[in-house]
Amino acid sequence: MANILVGVGGGIAAFKAVLLVRELQRRGHTVRVVMTRAGARFVGPVTFTGITGRPAVTDLWDPSYAGEVHVELGTWAELLVVAPATMNLLARAAAGFADDAVLATLACRAPDAPLLMAPAMHPRMWNRASTQRARDQLAADGVRFVGPTEGLLASGESGVGRLVEPDVIADAVEGALRRDLRGHRIVVSAGPTHEDLDPVRYLGNRSTGRMGFAIAAAAAARGAEVTLVAGPSALPTPPGVTRVDVRSALEMQTAIQQAAKDASAVIMAAAVADYRPAEVATSKIKKGEGGMSVALERNPDILAALGAARTGARPVLVGFALETDDVVGNARRKLEKKKVDLIVANHARDGFGGDENLVTLVTAAGAEELPRASKRALADHILDRAFEVTE
Ligand code: C5P
Repeated sequence: MANILVGVGGGIAAFKAVLLVRELQRRGHTVRVVMTRAGARFVGPVTFTGITGRPAVTDLWDPSYAGEVHVELGTWAELLVVAPATMNLLARAAAGFADDAVLATLACRAPDAPLLMAPAMHPRMWNRASTQRARDQLAADGVRFVGPTEGLLASGESGVGRLVEPDVIADAVEGALRRDLRGHRIVVSAGPTHEDLDPVRYLGNRSTGRMGFAIAAAAAARGAEVTLVAGPSALPTPPGVTRVDVRSALEMQTAIQQAAKDASAVIMAAAVADYRPAEVATSKIKKGEGGMSVALERNPDILAALGAARTGARPVLVGFALETDDVVGNARRKLEKKKVDLIVANHARDGFGGDENLVTLVTAAGAEELPRASKRALADHILDRAFEVTE
């Protein structure tokens, strides 16, 4: 749980900063708010004062405040997040201005305190060369960005410039508080595979893809470049993630092998079908009088092939194992057989479909049972452990 300073800039999206503060508090963090003068014209500081229990700071010149407010806030904050970050705020921050309460506090942040910016503005303002220069400069200076995203804007138009939703910003905050994954390319597979029998039928399984999508979201929130190879799944693509949709195990293997080139980690959360119909009928199979049997052939083991082909320590390889008996023993055997670094094992009764999971992380060093947690929280644990075991 961290001390988080939320900086509110002057844009219509400032109202979402209220929800962001609430969401961060719900996750156990202590929040204080600093606003630009323009920000305070969109949402009253009293609102933030009320929900944080501390005065929302809007003025560097408050005569009732004895100390230097920017120094106090900058020292207090373990992470700073600006939402919404306007064009004006980005430009001034990039140039090193410190002439209002938000900019002075950002300038005075501790060297190891991550700074996150969630821009929001009209797409023409976002696409302006000066804004992009400011963004690139700030990114080069170590500032992390979340959004903007594409969608409906205050003007009624649509385009890239919309503030990402408060829970996505909160996820990015959680990510920034953990191990930095910027500079890493991570491949995640998720969902089931569908193995076609004919043009209308397939063999599949009940995987929803939730765990893999959560890992992709967590890795992207921590700054990794993420490719999500997804079997058929209705889930939305997490922000900042490149998604490659596939259907069968063979298609998944091709996509993963392509994406795994110079990846630092491959995380196989997909429930890959072990078998596929030996023949795929080109027309719909007609029913006959009696029974019917279907010849199956083995699919390649995508993860084991990556393990066998790997020469050095990269990519880090993570597999999942859904078991009904001897969960840890089976996971250990899988770890060795597939030559991977980490197996996330769970009991069949615990993991399917829901938003929570109960898993054991199995590495060559031992097994660690994690407390029941949301798939999003587990995703962060899995990423931490995956990189730890290969150091
Ligand atoms: O051997 P088992 O199917 O239990 O192993 C599960 C792990 O192996 C998962 O990480 C899954 O994504 C991966 N796998 C694979 N290719 C297959 C079957 C499983 O990569 N054909």
